[in-house]
Amino acid sequence: MKTTVIVGGSFAGMTAALELKRKGKNEHRVILIDKSPLFLFIPSLIWVPFKRRDIKDISFRKDTILQRKGVEFVQAEALTVDTQKQLVVTDKGEFAYDHLVVATGPKVKYDIAPGVEEFAHYIGTPNGAMKTRKALEEFKKNPGPVVIGATQNAGCMGAAYEFLFNMEKWLREQNIRKKVDLHWVTPEDYLGHFGIDGMPLAESMLKGFMKMFNIHFHTQVGIGEVKEDQVILTDGTVLESRFTMLMPPFIGVDFVTHSPSLLATPNGYIPVGDDYRHRELPNVWAAGIAVDVKLPFTPAKVPFASPKTGYPSDETGKIVAENILRVSRGEQKLKEKAWGKIPGVCIMDCGKKEVIIFSNHLFKPRTIALMIPNVLYDFSKILLEKYFLWKTRRGFSYLP
Ligand SMILES: Cc1cc2nc3c(=O)[nH]c(=O)nc-3n(C[C@H](O)[C@H](O)[C@H](O)COP(=O)(O)OP(=O)(O)OC[C@H]3O[C@@H](n4cnc5c(N)ncnc54)[C@H](O)[C@@H]3O)c2cc1C
Repeated sequence: MKTTVIVGGSFAGMTAALELKRKGKNEHRVILIDKSPLFLFIPSLIWVPFKRRDIKDISFRKDTILQRKGVEFVQAEALTVDTQKQLVVTDKGEFAYDHLVVATGPKVKYDIAPGVEEFAHYIGTPNGAMKTRKALEEFKKNPGPVVIGATQNAGCMGAAYEFLFNMEKWLREQNIRKKVDLHWVTPEDYLGHFGIDGMPLAESMLKGFMKMFNIHFHTQVGIGEVKEDQVILTDGTVLESRFTMLMPPFIGVDFVTHSPSLLATPNGYIPVGDDYRHRELPNVWAAGIAVDVKLPFTPAKVPFASPKTGYPSDETGKIVAENILRVSRGEQKLKEKAWGKIPGVCIMDCGKKEVIIFSNHLFKPRTIALMIPNVLYDFSKILLEKYFLWKTRRGFSYLP
């Protein structure tokens, strides 16, 4: 029996592990290594600072379902891999493999500008979201100007937009909106670019939201420095700020960058073909954020990246599982789907309102590209959260 070791067990890695077992039955021994025993529905972290969700509402222990489906779960931190010896080294021992799947997600590059780590909040981790919640409690007692945005090189602009609109709603609920000057800062060429070169009506819709909610916006600009009470932009603009939340760029995790034999890109991502197989190491695969994705556009003024969202992370996990089985069975033809040709499926929460974003391809050219606003409530985002937690808890990895 061949052994597949998967490092990282979230959207991409958990899907790959469960699909390998579901489709391959006992063809593979599957070992999933993750430093966290929890599956966390990261998209709902944007609600934690506003007390709409607690971490326990959006997470569960993943070892039980994995073990029930025949996956061996190891709670450990993978430190390095030697791809010649086919050995993953962790803080809990070494694991030999026939196939390796890298599904480790991102590391946050806080040092993109001075002061980002010290003075700006980040909502993309449970700790960060809880610290932000605490900071908002303090802010409420003494409100003032607020800066929210994404730094240069960031790719996850959508989550920052969601936080912005949720913050605006929260300020009104707290009866302090009039005391707050709200600023949005983004490297994007235009509002609603989202790192995917926009969607029909995205720019005008977002401009409309900014006007309606009285939010000042600054596009095509980076962060020069963050101080306790100021954000200095790369064009020299100085914004006073009593509360700052920024989305910094993502890079590859230490496990990847500390493993020279993985032949990763300078940013720590895994270079793969449209079959998600390493371009030079035939028994190494990548799924989710760990995949190196080439930008299909050139930012006009300030660099920014493309988002690597949940749907393609899940899809690439499925493709990797299918292809590992095909290779093991001696098949020549592998399944291929370029990252940019995976459908774009996303729901942007705008503070108890939402915009449903759907396209047949993530990147242009697209034949279907829709942005459907729902100003009545954020039903779809809530449904998506409930559905995703339901299917993942039960290990229904084959569902979309
Ligand atoms: C605030 C926020 C909001 C978002 N909102 C949305 C949204 O609305 N819709 C959407 O589609 N996407 C959203 N995303 C993106 C979505 O969360 C990602 O696409 C998805 O999490 C990527 O899955 P992944 O499995 O590649 O990586 P991750 O989910 O980051 O998982 C990586 C896993 O690897 C493990 N790991 C890392 N290094 C090691 C190591 N050395 N050893 C062992 N384990 C390791 C980690 O513990 C983790 O479990 C959002 C992201 C953020 C930050």
